[in-house]
Amino acid sequence: MLDVQFGFDTTRILIGSGLAVIIALAGWRLGALNLSGAVVATALGGLTYGLGGLPAAMLLVVFFASSSGLSRAFNRQKKAVSEDFSKTGQRDWVQVLANGGAALLALLAGAMGWLSQPVAWLAFAAALATANADTWATELGVLSRTPPRLVTTGAPAPTGASGAVSALGTLVGLAAGLLIGVLAGWLLGRDPLLVALLVGFSGLLGSLIDSYLGATVQAGYYCPKCKKETERHPQHTCGATTQLRRGLPWFSNDWVNFLSTLCGAFLASGAATLWL
Ligand SMILES: [Zn+2]
Repeated sequence: MLDVQFGFDTTRILIGSGLAVIIALAGWRLGALNLSGAVVATALGGLTYGLGGLPAAMLLVVFFASSSGLSRAFNRQKKAVSEDFSKTGQRDWVQVLANGGAALLALLAGAMGWLSQPVAWLAFAAALATANADTWATELGVLSRTPPRLVTTGAPAPTGASGAVSALGTLVGLAAGLLIGVLAGWLLGRDPLLVALLVGFSGLLGSLIDSYLGATVQAGYYCPKCKKETERHPQHTCGATTQLRRGLPWFSNDWVNFLSTLCGAFLASGAATLWL
């Protein structure tokens, strides 16, 4: 099935950019991307088709539809949550790069010959699986009836906070990773079950690394007026200036997303080197 090989193909980059413009515009109209996000998503889509061919473009489209479609479906329920934790809603260009940059690096590694094609393919798929798992776990995890707990200490945490995990969110994250994994296995056309499991579990582990980084190094703020935790700074939605409570001031949720998708890619490519 992986009939289109990794490589640099200018024609494919142009065709891919043309197709990506349509999808990015649809994403912009539907509110999944803002304008800067749509521009960077177009470039990302064009490069994905150019470097990885049709299978890579198909996997990217499924990832985009599944992650932004789910965000949209649950927009209403989590509105209150997203006001304090800026993780959701319209993605800007930084968020698009944070979620798709590691996947693009994996394609580049395949096109440059730094990684063998199946290994690069798994790295690419696992980066997307991690971002998908993180999105699904965040979107659906907030519906959990039992309150989430911090992945580090197990202490109860506010719903939607970075680093907060729930059983529901973890299961949903695995399902989101497996969705990408099953498709990746089918597109690769060999060892479909092994590929699905490697990608699915790399995605889940990547999303747990996301939670761990979110609970430790990611900047966390506190609104003294509302007396609650938030990721908003310098001002909370109420207008009060928020104070840094934990983490490194420059370590935003975007860095967490980029590093965790990179970890997902490394996990899958390491496992692929051993077993594939
Ligand atoms: Zn406030």
